[in-house]
Amino acid sequence: MSKEKEKLNRKKKIKARVYERDGRRCLVCGRIDHLTIDHIVPLSLWKNNSHRNMQVMCGQCNAEKGVKVISYRTDEGALSTINKYLKLKSRDDNNV
Ligand SMILES: [Zn+2]
Repeated sequence: MSKEKEKLNRKKKIKARVYERDGRRCLVCGRIDHLTIDHIVPLSLWKNNSHRNMQVMCGQCNAEKGVKVISYRTDEGALSTINKYLKLKSRDDNNV
């Protein structure tokens, strides 16, 4: 298998895992169609493509969330991901 294909496969697996974990419904409104995977800390702020930084949302709720840092998950993985981001951010802010 090519490197490119392996990368694609890994992405697919992560997405499948996130949908499975979050119950295949929008965590905000409960819709089960038009689902997307949202990054709790948007990729534009932090390049974190871990499943811990992902949550299932419908297209509409995702659009409303925009580039804000909001977790609709309350599990340890999501909370520690946000804490990690805030720590990194405050370190960066202090270095400016
Ligand atoms: Zn929704």
